[in-house]
Parts: sequence; structure tokens; C-alpha cells
Amino acid sequence: MNAAQDTILRLEGLKMHFPVTSGIFFQRVQGWIKAVDGVSLTIRRGETLGLVGESGCGKTTLGRCVLRLYKPTEGRVEYDGQDITDLGNRDLRPFRRRMQVIFQDPYASLNPRMTAGRIIGEPLAIHKTVADREEQRRRVLELAEIVSFHPSMLDRFPHEFSSGQRQRIGIARALALNPEFIVADEPVSALDVSIQAQIINLLMELQQQMGLTYLFIAHDLSVVRHISNRVAVMYLGHVVELADSDVIYSDPAHPYTQALLSAVPVPDPAVEATREPIILPGETPSPLNPPSGCVFHPRCPMAEDRCSRETPEFREVRPNHWAACLLTPGYDQAPPVKP
Ligand code: SF4
Repeated sequence: MNAAQDTILRLEGLKMHFPVTSGIFFQRVQGWIKAVDGVSLTIRRGETLGLVGESGCGKTTLGRCVLRLYKPTEGRVEYDGQDITDLGNRDLRPFRRRMQVIFQDPYASLNPRMTAGRIIGEPLAIHKTVADREEQRRRVLELAEIVSFHPSMLDRFPHEFSSGQRQRIGIARALALNPEFIVADEPVSALDVSIQAQIINLLMELQQQMGLTYLFIAHDLSVVRHISNRVAVMYLGHVVELADSDVIYSDPAHPYTQALLSAVPVPDPAVEATREPIILPGETPSPLNPPSGCVFHPRCPMAEDRCSRETPEFREVRPNHWAACLLTPGYDQAPPVKP
């Protein structure tokens, strides 16, 4: 299999800017919120790409562009070799069956007036993939078993379940159409820590059984560590670093990743006692008016004068390790090729 066949999703220069308007009758555009501002990356078939960053950094917007729930302002979304950037709803339909989403808050994303069985079976009815009610019932039972959800609970309503059980319903619904690619948008953030591991293990088992590819979005580097093959770190609309998971954790190149990692507890108390967290000054700037040059420069502990003038490109600073930092060793030698 060559690299092109191995790629299931390719983003090129993706931008998603939202207008900020004023005026009641004649709305005037006052500015643009640059939620995603020039992201290029690929996701390989069968891998989990963890996408990490603080809330408001644009990761959920990026996921919605990938699923084409938003039409990007600029750039290209390529799914399985086909450009889907400008497709309308009708042409997107076959892709929507292959790409599904698992949401952060299973309670908010489940219709409170529908039973678990109806929620899981809804995509089958919408996409008309079953011949009759009997086939739908069989498929719902099958899906419930796959996510370890007891069939006796299928007649109950979302409020009767724990958050972990609700997330299992959300996962079963996402699997109903046999997708190959799933955007998991903070799927464990609303769950107790003890339940988080169960859901992550379930997602990993499903990936093995069904050959799924995940874009796994989280705000915490420790959550994605176990499940991700590669990790992309996002800051203020930009992906600032991308590498294999173990490399990101053992040898991060970008100062922002280094700061995020310094806040992740280490299991060994002796090592933990010697670590100093890197405290970033100030708040993340507004995506309405991002800083000049490197968008991280007002908070970066390593910033130099040039950082406010020069915009770093996303470069392969080491083999299969990409970073957007002017001062990262290897940056000046790396050719500006898109990942
Ligand atoms: Fe920090 Fe400068 Fe690198 Fe940006 S380019 S991350 S400001 S050192």
C-alpha cells in the first residue's frame, strides 16, 4: 500500500472564519473569528490521531469541517482521495454514512423523548439501510451487544442511564451505519475518571474489530496518550506540532506542547517531585484579533523579537515530526512541505 492509498483524510490549508456582525436591519461584518486558520494534515487509515488543545483553540470547529458540517472558508478537505470541500448535501450523503461523530456530552446529544433502542436505530431509518422493522430490531440488538449495552435496557429513556451508559448509546448510534472514520469530539470529558478508561478501552476494541480510523479530540494530553498513534497539538486555530504519540510525550518540540505536558502528572512520585510546571502568562488571545507573527509569541517563554514579526511555517523538523516554531532545532533546515 503506498502513502496516498494509506491516507483516509487530507486537509490542505484549511481555514474556517466566522463573521462578527453588527446592526439589526443591515448587518455589517465587523471582523472575523479565525477559528481554524490554515491547517494541513493527514490521517492514515486505521490510526487514531489525537487532536489536543485548550478550549476555544478551534479543534471542534476543525472536526466539524472534516465532517463537512461546516463548509470551510478556504482550503481543501479530501476524503479517501476525493475532494469533498464544496459538495452539497446530496453529494455528501454517501460520505456521511462513512464518517460519523461521537459527541462530548452524551446527555445533550441524545433525544430525551426517544428510547435507547430508537436512538440507536435512528440512522438506519434515516439512511434506509434496513428493509423493515424486524431487520432494524435485529441490527439494534447487534449494536447494543457490540457496545456491551444490555438489551433489556433498550426500552428505557436517556435520563434513566448513567453518563457512561449514555455514551455507550452514542457510540452504538455512531456505529449503526458501519462507518470507517469517526470524529470523537471529547468523548470522555463529561465522564467520571473511572468510566473514562472503560470508554477509551471500548473505542480501542472497536477500532481493532472494525478497522476504524479516529480523529480523537481532547483538551487534555493525558486523555489521548493511551489511544493515539499520533498526536496533533492545536493553538489559536493552528496545528503547532504533530508527531508519533510516544515522541510527543518524550521529546516535544514546540514550547506550547512542552507547557501542556508539564501540567500532566507523572505516575512516579519521585519524578513528579522534581518537575516544574511551565506556567504560561496571560490568557489565550482572541481568535478575532490573533497576534502577529507566531500566534503563541505573547505567552511563549522562549520568544525572541523575530517571533512577533515572522510567522512560522509547519515544518518537518525531524523525520515524521512537524512543528511550527522558528527556534525549534531543525526548523531552518527543513523544507516547507505540507504533512
Ligand atoms: Fe515561541 Fe517564537 Fe517558537 Fe513561537 S516561534 S513558539 S514565539 S519560540
